[in-house]
Amino acid sequence: MLDEKYIDTIFTSFSAALAEQGAPLPSVSQIAEEDNDPYRILVSTLISLRTKDEVTLSASLRLFSIAPDIETLASLDENTIADAIRPAGFFRRKGSQLNKIAQIIVNEHNGKVPCEMETLLSLPGVGIKTASLVLNLGYGIDAICVDCHVHEIVNRLGWVKTKSAEETEKELRKILPQRFWISLNELLVRYGQKICTPVSPFCSLCPENRRCPKNGVQRER
Ligand code: SF4
Repeated sequence: MLDEKYIDTIFTSFSAALAEQGAPLPSVSQIAEEDNDPYRILVSTLISLRTKDEVTLSASLRLFSIAPDIETLASLDENTIADAIRPAGFFRRKGSQLNKIAQIIVNEHNGKVPCEMETLLSLPGVGIKTASLVLNLGYGIDAICVDCHVHEIVNRLGWVKTKSAEETEKELRKILPQRFWISLNELLVRYGQKICTPVSPFCSLCPENRRCPKNGVQRER
């Protein structure tokens, strides 16, 4: 188990470093801050995959303006959904997935976004990241949402030594005290966007610069 004091230090110092960079919230968290509706979290997280934050936010808001609830989304055809979320990455495929997901939720779950990990993962296009965010932000259920940023940063820091996000999630469950599970994703996603960036991290701006083993880092700034 990682030491709680050490994790507290990381959360405080990383948040301070981000504040100095004026880093905004990721778009899904921004949507969640206004309204923790699991429907909005599910839809905006799916739109966010392979899509820039600013595009995710505007595409999600456009879609919510014509589909404020899951029943309306289920009634729209997939092209209308795709046009609303354009230019999000893979907007045609996502339009079709969103329509199918909405129909399944309306027809098989009485219009309620599922609150169990396994049921969420059975929906088309829903992976561990999306399911975890729905549970975290939409239902306040402890789950560790591991995306590419979280996976990469905890490996660089030496917390885990893993090859996939799924493996990282399993390892973090064993070593990370539960009170950090929900907040880890938002912190490290922002950190990965601004400081511990994928190709060449800005280690000179990082409070962990001296202590971090920088596993797998080839080049730093
Ligand atoms: S020192 Fe560099 S590699 Fe380590 S967490 Fe900070 S930015 Fe990432």
